Amino acid sequence: MRCPFCSFDDTKVIDSRLVAEGGQVRRRRECLSCSERFTTYETAELLMPKIIKTTGTREPFDEDKLRSGIMKALEKRPVSVEAIEAEISALTRRLQATGEREVPSRVVGELVMEALQALDHVAYVRFASVYRSFQDLDEFRAEIDRLAAEPEQKKMVDAALANSVGTLPEK
Ligand SMILES: [Zn+2]
Repeated sequence: MRCPFCSFDDTKVIDSRLVAEGGQVRRRRECLSCSERFTTYETAELLMPKIIKTTGTREPFDEDKLRSGIMKALEKRPVSVEAIEAEISALTRRLQATGEREVPSRVVGELVMEALQALDHVAYVRFASVYRSFQDLDEFRAEIDRLAAEPEQKKMVDAALANSVGTLPEK
């Protein structure tokens, strides 16, 4: 490690111990050139991979976006918030566990479908049928919006039909 005082390329570790209940390693270092001492802390870093969109652009993984998509897909379904959060945590951990720096959005989409399958069969079937056409999470959300709007449209159409009983044109 480079010395922060004189920028010499090498330092020696003179003391090393676990801190933060074993979650961190604290190292006391001494520069081999100027003999200045300094401390470094080492922690495990679990980085979320960047998401590669179908357009080829990369964007940071957005957990809020993921959450709102899943929440919307499960709207009015008998699924607890705790169950949803547990699936989101599991999904996030699986993405981290890939160890990849970049992951295609398709992979995230597949994980979302698996989460839905675990949470609610009805929601899963609803989205699995249209999933293959999704390019990424943005499209997934758009599809959810579209489906969410449908029952309202159907209600309006049904109401209109009910008002015009007997005057329906033959199909
Ligand atoms: Zn130095």
